[in-house]
Order: sequence, then C-alpha cells, then structure tokens
Amino acid sequence: MKVTFPHLGNVYIGVKALLDGLGIEYIIPPFTSKRALEIGSLHSPEEICLPFKINIGNYIQSIEQGADTIIITGSCGPCRFGEYCELQINLLKRLGYDLNFVVIDTPGDIGTKEFLNRIGSISGKSNRNKYQKFKALFDSIKVLNLIDEIEEIAHELAGYEKAKGESRSLLKQCKSEVMKCTCPNEMIEMLKAYRLKMKNIERDSTKNPVKVAIIGEIYTIIEPFSNLYIEDKLMEYGVASKRRLTPSWWVKNTVLSPLGINSMDIKRASKDYLSLCVGGHARECIGEAVLSYEEGFDGAIQIFPMGCMPEIVAKSILPTISRDKDFPIMTLVVDEMTGEAGYVTRIEAFIDLLERRKEYVLLRR
Ligand code: SF4
Repeated sequence: MKVTFPHLGNVYIGVKALLDGLGIEYIIPPFTSKRALEIGSLHSPEEICLPFKINIGNYIQSIEQGADTIIITGSCGPCRFGEYCELQINLLKRLGYDLNFVVIDTPGDIGTKEFLNRIGSISGKSNRNKYQKFKALFDSIKVLNLIDEIEEIAHELAGYEKAKGESRSLLKQCKSEVMKCTCPNEMIEMLKAYRLKMKNIERDSTKNPVKVAIIGEIYTIIEPFSNLYIEDKLMEYGVASKRRLTPSWWVKNTVLSPLGINSMDIKRASKDYLSLCVGGHARECIGEAVLSYEEGFDGAIQIFPMGCMPEIVAKSILPTISRDKDFPIMTLVVDEMTGEAGYVTRIEAFIDLLERRKEYVLLRR
C-alpha cells in the first residue's frame, strides 16, 4: 500500500509524522502548482469549486508516482464538500485508475463501528504494536500543532521584526528541514528548536504595523497556492497577519464538536449575525470578522473560491459587520482564471487604505 492525500497547508508535515510513525509507505504529492490545477481542471466538472480541481490534480500527480490509496476527510454536507469523495471516486474510476479510497468521516456521521473500520484499513497495514500506533497518532498531532504555531508566530512577527524578511526565511527553512527528519521524535525536537528561534527573532518596539485577519473558506485560506500566496505577500509588505483556521484548529474543532464545546469564541462572536451553521465555514468566517475587530486588527480579508455557497452567504453579511463596527473588510474571490496582477493590486490598495486610516486615527489622538 502506498498512501497519498491532497495538500492542505501544513497537513503534509503532520501526515509524514503519522505515516513514518506507523511505518506505512506514502507519497506526498508535489506542492500544488499550475500543473496540478491544469490536470484537475481538465478532468473535473467545470462548475465544481476550486479545491475539488486542485485535489484531483494532487491525486493524479501522486498516482503517477505510484500511489494506490487515497486518504481524504469526508463530510455529509451541506455544501459541495459533502459530495467530494463520491464524485472524486467516480471520476478517478472513469479515468481508469484502480485505487483504494479511505474517507475519514466523523463517527457522528458514519457511526463509531464504520469509523473504526476505516481507520483500521490504514493502521492494519502497519506492523507497529498498539502503543506505537497511538504514539504515532499523538506525535503527528503534536507536529501539526507545532508547525502551525511556528507559522502563526512568523506571520505576526513579519510586522515587527528588526531585520526585514527574517521570520519569512526562518519559516521557509523550518518547513524544508523538518521534511528531512526520519522519525516523528526528531521532527518534534526540530520544530521545538525552530519555535524557540522564531520567538527569539529581534523585534522593533517602535513599529506599529497594519494588522490584517485572513478569513473565509477553509481550504482557500490554508492552501497557499489557491490564495496566490497571500500570506507571503503580506509578510513581504511588513504586515502582521493572523489566520485562525489551520489544520490543527480543524483537528481540535472536529474532536470537540460532538461535545458542543468547539470554537466557543467564534460561536459567541458570530451569534448576532449568523447563529446557524450554513455549511462550510461561513459561521467561522463571520465570527472571525467580529473577533478580529474586537482584537484590534485594522481590517480583514475574506477569500473564497468562485461559487462557494457558504462563503457567498458570509459575504452578504460582512458589509453589515463592516458598517456596524467601522471595520474594513475586503473580499477576494479566486478560481483558475484569477490573474495575479489584478489580485495583487487589490491587496496593495487595501493595505494602503488601512495604513492611511491608521495614520489618520493616530493624528487625531
Ligand atoms: S466550502 Fe465552498 S469551496 Fe469548500 S467545498 Fe463547500 S462550496 Fe466548495
């Protein structure tokens, strides 16, 4: 069995830790690129959302390298994500690929027995004992938490660092070095060392950078290719940014949701504008917009793929939040036709606006 999975931000680092710990062979798809999107767009239904197309590109590039088993997370709706696995299984079958699909749904949706069956179909291929298997799982969660934390610190530091670009290059180095590790323990130790290095980057206390929150559809904001590397661009501009939704947030949220104690801050913040789940992460998007205002951010950028139903609902609510709180929010819609020049111009214009507002507020004090 050679396992593969679609890219989603730092997930590949956590999955490497898990599969190394289980001793299962795997293939990490090449980082998402124009090529992956072209392959995905060629074979996918034209009107399906961007993440589906990129997933297909990731799978096919991994299959070309010998992968025969695909692991994905599932959902029972209510947006198109609920149809992803069925559609993807049929699409790849039609293309002539003979594959195993392991769809990890929550026990609440598929029942505990079926959930354990599906987990067993992967862990059963490992020759490790029970203790080692549990350890591999916990280590991979630790790795995911660490890399997400390091990334969060770097995004914030980009606005405050004394030597411009230091946090960005340290983050890049960290991600590349950790992939050279051969076991989860080594990954954890290395990530802890990088976390310390990142925290020790010298800050310029005189800086008062623009602070921006990145909100929107979970896949598009986490997977850098699909948002045209917006966080890298913000780091280059010296903007301090924050994205609450990360792969480690997703794990925590999924584990706590059966108990109803997941993302309490987001639920509280979204209550006045969108108190129900309408699919995807629209409620999170609304809650995060309010939270970023409360936390003193200067503005927020919502990103979602063309045709994303939940985010269209969120987009229609955001102007009300913006008006009520006097809080600038810009929406960027992406698809395979998005041109980088126009996209960058909009980001730069928005940052410019936030800088001027900030200066104006300081002058009036
Ligand atoms: S949240 Fe939006 S982009 Fe993601 S699967 Fe659902 S409809 Fe598609």
